[in-house]
Amino acid sequence: MRMGILEKFQQTICEHEAEVAVLFTGSKTPLYIILGLACSLLLSLAVKNFLFDHYLLASLLGLFTLLVLIDVIALHKGKTIPIHTNIVVTLLLICLGLTIHQVDISAIFWAFPIAIAILYIVPLKTAMFFFSLMLALVGVETFTQVDSSTALRTCVALSLTMFISSLIAQHMRRLQRSLKEESIRDPMTNALNRRQLSSHLSNCLARKQRHGIDSVILLLDIDHFKQINDTYGHAMGDRVLKRVTQTIFNQIRETDLLFRVGGEEFILLMHDIDLLSARRVAEKLRLSISEQAILDHYPVTVSIGISMALPHIKEDDWIRQADSALYNAKDGGRNRVSYHEVSA
Ligand code: GH3
Ligand code: MG
Ligand code: MG
Repeated sequence: MRMGILEKFQQTICEHEAEVAVLFTGSKTPLYIILGLACSLLLSLAVKNFLFDHYLLASLLGLFTLLVLIDVIALHKGKTIPIHTNIVVTLLLICLGLTIHQVDISAIFWAFPIAIAILYIVPLKTAMFFFSLMLALVGVETFTQVDSSTALRTCVALSLTMFISSLIAQHMRRLQRSLKEESIRDPMTNALNRRQLSSHLSNCLARKQRHGIDSVILLLDIDHFKQINDTYGHAMGDRVLKRVTQTIFNQIRETDLLFRVGGEEFILLMHDIDLLSARRVAEKLRLSISEQAILDHYPVTVSIGISMALPHIKEDDWIRQADSALYNAKDGGRNRVSYHEVSA
């Protein structure tokens, strides 16, 4: 008996939620600690400067702390941050400039941790812009206030700090991107994994409800795949899976999304397409797979169930309809396309 796709799908949603919870605590806690420390430090500096009559600097430091707190609270509540990070960083640089200029030249040491912090607050390109401003600021102040040899060493040390931390940040971002890519795809077929399905389906359903844009899912299942494994071995079964998915990838549009939802079951999600065109695509896929002669003496074919997004349908029901259409295709003899009839 074929395993219910809905059961697998629901199990996936639970796994996904657990992962999100871990990610949330994992990524936010260090951020809160760093921001908490920075705010306490800057607030105490604001008080100190107020007591030493540096009122402008004290007010700017206080304002900076307030803006960061507003952003942190919004972040904690899962909302978009109201104060743009560029404003926060600009304010921080003004405070740094004022401190170096008015209070004490040794405040240039703050430029080092600030440079590293900037890389975590704004995108790399924007960080480069702020780095140039900082270097200009530190350069002017040091060359006018201390001997040129010390000033030169300070500027070189700051440039190196910026350069090395940019390299590390770039490396981390690349690593993060490739890890994300690996986490959303099935390594064997390169199709998106089941965990990605729910959010894409709900997006399509929302677009159908708001703008009437049609989306269709094709549920594809390789026919008698168990027999292929039993006859030719598991390794050959894997090769068949790869060839079938490659064939699908070669035929679909860039905007179409292919998910591996089971061992030899796939969902192709197509946006902005009507039922007739979806049936044509399904027929084209079915034909190109069966005509490929993937195995010499055994026909590799797929059965396909089609279901269209309806305005108020739930994700589960949408999949269930494709599943019942697939069942009909299997029941009708396999290597065929069947679609879920919409009752009037
Ligand atoms: P039907 O035509 O009704 O779909 O029959 P079937 O044999 O394709 O369906 P069934 O669900 O009985 O068998 C699916 C088989 O797919 C069973 C399982 O061992 C195999 N399978 C699942 N994942 C993989 C995989 O990653 N590689 C290989 N080679 N086989 C797999
Ligand atoms: Mg099968
Ligand atoms: Mg199956």
